[in-house]
Amino acid sequence: TPTLLWFRQDLRLQDNPALHAALARGGPVIPVYVWEESCESPAAEGARANDGWAAQPGAASRWWLHHSLEALDAAVRERGGRLILRRGDPLAELQEIVRATGAKGVYWNRRYEPAARARDARVQTELAAAGLDVKTFNSALLNEPETILNKQGGPFQVFSAYWRHCLTLPVAAPRKLPAGPIPAPERWPRSLDVAALELRPRVAWDRGLAQAWTPGEASAAKRMTRFVAGAIDRYDEERDFPGCDGTSMLSAALHWGEISPRQLWAAVRGRSRESGVFPPSNGARIFLAELGWREFAYHLLWHFPHTIEQPLRRAFARFSWAEDPEGRRLRAWQRGQTGYPIVDAGMRQLWQTGWMHNRVRMIVASFLVKHLRLSWPHGATWFWDTLVDADLANNTLGWQWSAGCGADAAPYFRIFAPVLQGRKFDSDGVYVRRWVPELARLPDRFLHAPWTATAQTLAAAGVRLGENYPRPVVDHAAARAEALAAFRQLREPP
Ligand code: FAD
Repeated sequence: TPTLLWFRQDLRLQDNPALHAALARGGPVIPVYVWEESCESPAAEGARANDGWAAQPGAASRWWLHHSLEALDAAVRERGGRLILRRGDPLAELQEIVRATGAKGVYWNRRYEPAARARDARVQTELAAAGLDVKTFNSALLNEPETILNKQGGPFQVFSAYWRHCLTLPVAAPRKLPAGPIPAPERWPRSLDVAALELRPRVAWDRGLAQAWTPGEASAAKRMTRFVAGAIDRYDEERDFPGCDGTSMLSAALHWGEISPRQLWAAVRGRSRESGVFPPSNGARIFLAELGWREFAYHLLWHFPHTIEQPLRRAFARFSWAEDPEGRRLRAWQRGQTGYPIVDAGMRQLWQTGWMHNRVRMIVASFLVKHLRLSWPHGATWFWDTLVDADLANNTLGWQWSAGCGADAAPYFRIFAPVLQGRKFDSDGVYVRRWVPELARLPDRFLHAPWTATAQTLAAAGVRLGENYPRPVVDHAAARAEALAAFRQLREPP
């Protein structure tokens, strides 16, 4: 009898435990993806729907999903199968496919976001009550959140202790899909075309994304191989410099499960085969710890689900945010028109490619929360809509870290100075010149603070402040002082 394999954020065939188990069960395997608008977005997680949280998954994520589903369908077809696509309520769709095919098993890999967990629990209960063989697996994490507890039996809230603990645990080897076809049923249930899921934008703004990315398992595997064979050993030195390709750029592939952390771990381990030293370099050690931050983010989301919309550190709920009645500050930030070149470069990279370098994510996030004093959910929702790697766990951790209100966060009083950050991490200006071309001809020493250049220098570089590039939307020193004052208020009893 057939087994339904319910794909979700595990869009790959290799190292896919649910697929392995479905094959091992014997009989035909029917791969299914159900597009359900409501369950994937923060709005559905109970977050505020009125101040910008998209009612649906972000537009850039949907673009990625469209192409990843196409790639998955092609890979399944190469093995004689087919990906059945549906839209609507997953339980109803799965039940209908069960009826149509006589399937007796439904297998899937687990998700950890609060709304998805609640939904999955309901689906599992209903299907099991109908007598089906329902099994779920871990495909996305090295360690699932509930399995890692501190000595007191509670969740970790400090990364270093969390990761030290994780490093004592074994990492399972990834499993290779056996060669040969995926057994097909006698008749396939009906399926939609990928286009019918309407994941692609109606207005074609996605050219930059298409130029930057090739979603899908095969492309992720290539990216991993290239990175682990090269840049990983320089990761400790290069990962903070947005002008060089020093990071893996695998975040979207990890989010959608086109590649698993176990596969990455094994690839790094493979590099140690000759030397016997693991990790094979300091770069590799730090890279693995970044995967650890991803694990930590899921750990926090699982144990503190309210952090999607509320600060983990409750005192921050009283923080006095700036007024921005016409949304002028927020728009300047979103559009990369703040007048601070490193901030603008990051926001434009995000808009055009759906991705931003981690160092610059920290800079723009700090700028929004501390210089503009706009609350972090404004930033989280914008990221949610524009990132191809938008991920509820990582995004929440990243924003709460930047705002100083999360677990193991940067202290609020440490305020990134955008000019100094630019000079330090983009000293030759490669990054800013690429994304803010109107400043490209400015000499390096003025590039990160164009307003400090003389009128003559600006004219020679074709920069007209206030016309083709904005003056700073806030003054750094004044904004810093105001942010610190707001923070001090927080520490005084209400
Ligand atoms: P690499 O440096 O190659 O790291 C490898 C992988 O480790 C990444 O793909 C990612 O899965 C994980 N990772 C790396 N750094 C972090 C981190 N700080 N926290 C959690 N996981 C990490 N990452 C997302 O995947 N989705 C998000 O929505 C997201 N939002 C963020 C928001 C803010 C404000 C900040 C400061 C960071 C955010 N990050 C997010 C984390 C990080 O910026 C990205 O994971 C990273 O830039 C992706 O590039 P990469 O794949 O080249 O990373």
